[in-house]
Amino acid sequence: MFCVECGREGPTIDGLCAEDFRKRHPIVRPPEAIDASVCADCGRIEMGKGWARVDLEIAIPSLLRERIPVDPRASRVTFTHTSRAEDPRNLDVAAKVAAQIEGLDLVESFRVRLRLKAGLCPTCTRRHSKYYEGILQVRTETKDLGPEDRDRLVGFVEAAVARRSAKGEEVFISKIEDVRGGTDLYLSSNTAARSIARELADAFYGSVGSSPKLYGQKNGKDLYRVTYLVRLRGPSSGGRGHGTK
Ligand SMILES: [Zn+2]
Ligand SMILES: [Zn+2]
Repeated sequence: MFCVECGREGPTIDGLCAEDFRKRHPIVRPPEAIDASVCADCGRIEMGKGWARVDLEIAIPSLLRERIPVDPRASRVTFTHTSRAEDPRNLDVAAKVAAQIEGLDLVESFRVRLRLKAGLCPTCTRRHSKYYEGILQVRTETKDLGPEDRDRLVGFVEAAVARRSAKGEEVFISKIEDVRGGTDLYLSSNTAARSIARELADAFYGSVGSSPKLYGQKNGKDLYRVTYLVRLRGPSSGGRGHGTK
């Protein structure tokens, strides 16, 4: 086969050698700039499949893949890149795309500016709106909660929330309210509120009661906020493994 453009012998696509084919049909037609939203609060990056907690450098190949139009005939498309920050909001990305078209391996270099836009991910939007699904009402039976005991209980709940959050569970404390005889902790997840109520009761010899309250509907389903009343004999009475139940 001969290239109709340059006459060179070898494999051709549409009558053209790889080099001339690429000149006429680039693998990618990159725009001058592409945008990516970064959550102003937690740094998550908005990707095609949702907001992801990833390093920007690791996200760039996926962002290129999602946002740069590629010749529909191309297969095995991979992007590699190096980037340089021009300022905190703009990155100059030098990228290479490799692909196969009609059995020919092609590589192309291009530059694109990546503009970072400040956004707010759904989790942080909820946090800002003080969203909650469950309330832990922690009360001691014996006396008012002293500041040390109060801090110990709040710390216990904060640690329990941090453990879940580290495992990728969507949970945060949206509000803490100190009241007579105890404290109320508002949690964004009802599932987490229920299990943390149990953990509190186990660790401090208490009992758990719950009362759901209808607060709305979503897609025809009733939504409940549940209050978990955790009655403790008193955090001063010791921790797990002491005393009687
Ligand atoms: Zn040619
Ligand atoms: Zn966020």
